[in-house]
Amino acid sequence: MMSNISISTVDLYLTGSCNYKCEYCYGESDTSPHMTYDTLMNCLNFAEYICADTIELCGGEPLISPLFETAVLEARKKGFKVIVRTNGILLEQYMDLVAHNCEWVGVSLDGLAEINAKMRPSRQRLTIEEQFDIPIKNIKKLKQINPNIKIILATIATAENYDEILNLMDFVFNSNLPVDKWKIYQFIEDKFRSVVYSKKYALSSEKFLYLKTHMPETLPSGGKIIMQSADADGAGGNCLLVSHNGTIKILDEYYGKIGQDDYQSICSNLKTGSVIKYIQQNKKVTYV
Ligand code: SF4
Repeated sequence: MMSNISISTVDLYLTGSCNYKCEYCYGESDTSPHMTYDTLMNCLNFAEYICADTIELCGGEPLISPLFETAVLEARKKGFKVIVRTNGILLEQYMDLVAHNCEWVGVSLDGLAEINAKMRPSRQRLTIEEQFDIPIKNIKKLKQINPNIKIILATIATAENYDEILNLMDFVFNSNLPVDKWKIYQFIEDKFRSVVYSKKYALSSEKFLYLKTHMPETLPSGGKIIMQSADADGAGGNCLLVSHNGTIKILDEYYGKIGQDDYQSICSNLKTGSVIKYIQQNKKVTYV
């Protein structure tokens, strides 16, 4: 039996681990371990049940998960499109897998080398330049291997970097970086973000508007630059995120646990939740 809810994309939180230690990370105190194989397969079965067509792999840094390759291949085997959200550093080791099996790859950069490294400090021994150059090199390589793969650049606009994003824009345009979309998120102080550093990074609406008025609407590729302000519909609860242990909790609402609760009861809970339409809206804006 199939469900009667319609959600196109299921986001799988493969791991809480990350090779970066961004202060503003929404998972700053996250110590959740890697998703297990059984949970992964249960999640893919659930995604089939709700007739989703896309699996988005995220974390933490999903490429750190020992199950990353399995997750991509099992999702493809079941006919899902696959999206990966990554900081781009570890892509080299999965280059062919990602290039040939993923529809979209989201890579995060918060500015040119110096401000990017300040915002997104690495746990690895990388220079400031390497932290910027490696994701750029990997984006180009993905496009070389598969010109049809789509790249979305993701940037968090905060009080620390908002005016430096204009320098990143110059770089993107002048270097003809092959990105298909660029999504820039306004960082706001809320309970789902970093508790410790929220105030430091919170960006006022005035400053976000300043940035918006200085950004073009389209990239050299013709793709859109999306400025996601905090008051946009669905900005807070914008995906059906399944945690490493199968729990579905969106914002503060608990919807069930895959592998423990039956699919029908999870779907009934989701159906009565307030976030469904926002989930759909957000995915459309981001990837279509
Ligand atoms: S790269 Fe992403 S998941 Fe990793 S610490 Fe930074 S914000 Fe968090």
